[in-house]
Amino acid sequence: MIMISEVGPRDGVQSLDFLVDLDIKKRWIAAEAAAGVHEIEVGSFVNFKRLPQMQDTAALVEFALTIPGLDVAVLVPNLRGAQAAVEAGAHKLSIPVSASETHSVRNVNRTHDQMVEEVRSIRAFVDAQPADARTSIEVGIATAFGCTIEGHVPEKTIVDLAERLMAAGASEVGLSDTTGYADPAMIRNRIKAVQAAVGADNITGVHLHNTRGLGLTNALAALECGLTTLDASLGGLGGCPFAPGASGNIVTEDLVFMLDAMGIETGIDLAALIEVRKKLASDMPGSPIYGFVADAGVPLDFSQLVKPDPATGTYA
Ligand code: ZN
Repeated sequence: MIMISEVGPRDGVQSLDFLVDLDIKKRWIAAEAAAGVHEIEVGSFVNFKRLPQMQDTAALVEFALTIPGLDVAVLVPNLRGAQAAVEAGAHKLSIPVSASETHSVRNVNRTHDQMVEEVRSIRAFVDAQPADARTSIEVGIATAFGCTIEGHVPEKTIVDLAERLMAAGASEVGLSDTTGYADPAMIRNRIKAVQAAVGADNITGVHLHNTRGLGLTNALAALECGLTTLDASLGGLGGCPFAPGASGNIVTEDLVFMLDAMGIETGIDLAALIEVRKKLASDMPGSPIYGFVADAGVPLDFSQLVKPDPATGTYA
């Protein structure tokens, strides 16, 4: 079973140049959960003056918590955000720590040392909560495959950061291709290096962007390294509306199609997911929407396709 974590309401929406109605976001989250999506990152607790698209995050967490079985994740850049997230009742905190220190300073105004300390204070804060309010703390190492400001990011920087963040109290670390610079060989090398440093159990997910069209091949490379969680966004939402083709995350529908075709379980109903996409496209006509399978349709007799045995990879 592979877990697909939908990040569209956070990563997709934050890059739009218009505000999305709270009701539209609620319908979207409910419909994706009904289609079988088990985890959704519903927003972020950030400076809402800088990111007004995220100002309804507390209301979205409150709403998402009413959906049975849904894991509710939020992004938080600092202790203050973590406090707001825990107060709202989120299940999982996702903290971005940029491997490019220049990017980190510009994005969250903190150096690596300061971010490691921030994670340590978030851990102390979470541990002081009653047992049922202790959220999971997942640190996503951003710009892990290169940075638009610094360019090349050495592998050693990623590995050192992963070790320091685990020591500071992260529940696990993940790698984020924030800039869409990764390729499958780099994905393999960096995941294996981090697995060797912190243990395979402490890195289970990647966050990929499809900026240069390598999103799905990168996802496959990550799966082949044993990772089990992939972030994706419905309709590949994100990117810049003024730069056609600069899509956001990997497209949830296309990812589910690839995994279905390979006989890998996701628990998500592809047909239902494509209906959610259609509704979202009509609810948000100003947003660019990407992906192939929704337009092309699934192959004839797709549901009767002979699938490879997941254990052996061979066809019956
Ligand atoms: Zn992203």
